[in-house]
Amino acid sequence: MTHRDKTRLVHVSRTRPAEGTGPVNPPIVRTSTVLYKDMATLRSMAVRRSRGERLFTYGIRGTPTTFALEDALTEIEQGSRTMLFPSGLAAIAHVFLSVLKPGDHALLAETIYGPARGIAEHYLAERGIECEFYPGGHEEVGRRLRPATRLVYLDNPGSIVFDVQDVPAIAKAVAGRDILVAVDNTWGAPGLYRPLALGADISIVAITKYIAGHSDLAMGSVTANDRCADRLWADANLFCESVSPDEAYLALRGLRTAAARMTMQQAHAAAVIRWLERHPLIDRILYPALETHPGHAIWKRDFCGANSLFSLVFRPDITQQQANRFVDRLELFGIGASWGGFESLALTYPQGVNGWSGGSLVRLHIGLEDPADLIADIEQALDALDT
Ligand SMILES: *Cc1c(COP(=O)(O)O)cnc(C)c1O
Repeated sequence: MTHRDKTRLVHVSRTRPAEGTGPVNPPIVRTSTVLYKDMATLRSMAVRRSRGERLFTYGIRGTPTTFALEDALTEIEQGSRTMLFPSGLAAIAHVFLSVLKPGDHALLAETIYGPARGIAEHYLAERGIECEFYPGGHEEVGRRLRPATRLVYLDNPGSIVFDVQDVPAIAKAVAGRDILVAVDNTWGAPGLYRPLALGADISIVAITKYIAGHSDLAMGSVTANDRCADRLWADANLFCESVSPDEAYLALRGLRTAAARMTMQQAHAAAVIRWLERHPLIDRILYPALETHPGHAIWKRDFCGANSLFSLVFRPDITQQQANRFVDRLELFGIGASWGGFESLALTYPQGVNGWSGGSLVRLHIGLEDPADLIADIEQALDALDT
């Protein structure tokens, strides 16, 4: 029987009491060495592993705790295999390194996560991999494809500016060619968006964000479909960037309550946005769940919800310095990177970031605080701009 999302987040990848009783959560298995009952077992497991089977053979190759998290993500993302990495950025780097080789061409959206762009510009480009950044969204992909293109890579929605791309249209544009489509699905995880079900080959998630949910760990995942899972997994086994069982446990714990936190945080964000939209200093809000957002129709078709991360754009006469002052004056919003935790955060970005040229911009992450308090805080910080 297939279950709905909230049910799945609670039940996915749980152990069953095998011997009459058992814990609710998978145990934290801390180990480097894994012991075998005899040499024949060791040899046969090594052979099975080399053929791609996931087995508990050595600590850095995964433990029952990390396997439980991988299985949960494979089911939520509807892929065939998930690999875990020490950060979201490490997961992105793995996809680039595994998929691309010198001479290849990669098409990357202009609105990808900034540090991912840094890997492309400063590492891949220096090694003979041509990285082309496309502005303007999915319509641009088809006509920029080349014989050497091997990867199309995007964040959906785009980082900071929240543009939405049509992944089914991108999948159609590359169909029949040796090109993989990889999507950074951090905004839509867990469960709001499923790139693999829409034609992408790889979905990357910074577990650091809503899944961890408490700003206390960093981790990333790569979930792949049948087309590329074996290759990504084989390369992950060469590098062995493993995650600790303690952090995998915390991520699984975060996953169980993610729907409750995200539902509440989304409602709080909606209240803050409704208030901001009526404020004379605010030009617009960049958030795909708004009907006025240019990507709203695709969001509505392909996503099953929104989270609590969005950007506000000030009226054109508000300078970057004033936007910085606004953020500095906020008392309940921390100034800091990352998001998806229980607490509210704010950051400004310089003009030109991710192709943005439309006025001073502040990215807000709305946490679990009472939205009336958050609105009062924003109001006092905006009032100070008028004087
Ligand atoms: C935070 C983030 C990442 C990187 O995750 P880390 O665990 O911080 O390395 C990647 N993509 C997006 C969209 C993010 O917001």
